[in-house]
Amino acid sequence: MSGELSEEQSSIFAMAADFAAQELAPHALEWDEQKHFPVNVLRKAAALGMGGIYIRDDVGGSGLTRMDAALIFEALSQGCPVIASFLSIHNMCAWVIDAYGSEAQRQKWLPQLTPMELIASYCLTEPSCGSDAANLSTKAVRDGDDYLITGQKQFISGAGASDIYIVMARTGAAGAKGISAFIVPKDAEGLSFGANEKKMGWNAQPTRTVMFDNVRVPVENLIGQEGIGFKIAMSALDGGRLNIAACSLGGAQAAFDKALAYMDERKAFGSKLHQFQALQFRLADMATELEVARTFLHRAARALDRHDADAVKLCAMAKRFVTDAGFNVANQALQLHGGYGYLSEYGAEKLVRDLRVHQILEGTNEIMRVIIARELLSGRDK
Ligand SMILES: Cc1cc2nc3c(=O)[nH]c(=O)nc-3n(C[C@H](O)[C@H](O)[C@H](O)COP(=O)(O)OP(=O)(O)OC[C@H]3O[C@@H](n4cnc5c(N)ncnc54)[C@H](O)[C@@H]3O)c2cc1C
Repeated sequence: MSGELSEEQSSIFAMAADFAAQELAPHALEWDEQKHFPVNVLRKAAALGMGGIYIRDDVGGSGLTRMDAALIFEALSQGCPVIASFLSIHNMCAWVIDAYGSEAQRQKWLPQLTPMELIASYCLTEPSCGSDAANLSTKAVRDGDDYLITGQKQFISGAGASDIYIVMARTGAAGAKGISAFIVPKDAEGLSFGANEKKMGWNAQPTRTVMFDNVRVPVENLIGQEGIGFKIAMSALDGGRLNIAACSLGGAQAAFDKALAYMDERKAFGSKLHQFQALQFRLADMATELEVARTFLHRAARALDRHDADAVKLCAMAKRFVTDAGFNVANQALQLHGGYGYLSEYGAEKLVRDLRVHQILEGTNEIMRVIIARELLSGRDK
């Protein structure tokens, strides 16, 4: 871990790493195999302050920074990146209410969200638009003191298990400015869920379609005002992208540590694997990738904490770079295990499967390049 951490940051990392070692790592393979979503373990994490990491403390949040969050998600992911990632999504939803909600919404929802008595999911993607989210078609139509929401959300993490849903829906004209954000409780009439998707990884959390058939929510569940839903969704993702990058980093570090331990034991041609210089060079490159990824992730997290003008660009760069590096390191770690890397009991193949989706969700790595290029080239061609 970086020598630039304060004493408090080092103890935050140690607390999360300890939780990961005790509560996540021993069960991660079984949860993956049985597709079990361990809600009780999420609540244990919340009891240590990880259900509202950067939420203000008057509603039970921990009041920490994005930099602290990056440390927590890296540490948790060394035990299980899937559970860490879900905690990130829940934190992102709670932050939306803390940052954009009314005082009444903050007081109503956050004291239940921070201890994870209530669990939250984030609903942006739709069956026919993911990357082009500003084009979404789920509609919310005003009806007296309520809104009626109709449409469908696709790939929603935690859906069916979560208690509330932060839903982006169209209240106005086409485009980003016609979108609003709502808090939709699970028991709202007309809300239903598809089957748990069969996936390559991320099996310890459910992914479902969420269907809205004239779902009635009161006007007081509108977050902020009409028309700012896309801005809310995108600003939540800036932090979410740092978290997901931190989850890749922690998962990749765990894969690297497994490979190193394996190479101390395994022999070929009369030597331990770590004695082959070709493999030493591979380890050197993997360790370098991890250090560069960590250093850059921390740079982006500090920029977001300071609200720097280039924070959006840096968050996109961090998400792109760290999730690519994390996947590559995990994949190399599998290779270094030879055939055993392909067997589930060694844990390397699970990490490869889990980290693969980090290159796709919270904005694909192609879309990260779109964001970076837009920031680099803004102001030209006018
Ligand atoms: C396991 C899992 C969990 C998820 N959880 C959630 C969740 O909780 N909430 C939520 O809202 N969403 C969630 N998602 C959805 C995820 O964010 C989207 O899948 C992702 O944003 C990509 O959208 P898409 O699948 O529609 O792909 P598309 O947008 O159809 O993209 C297809 C391909 O085209 C590329 N592409 C598209 N546009 C461009 C462009 N302009 N330039 C270059 N390349 C481009 C993409 O990068 C991709 O490679 C989840 C997805 C998965 C797999």
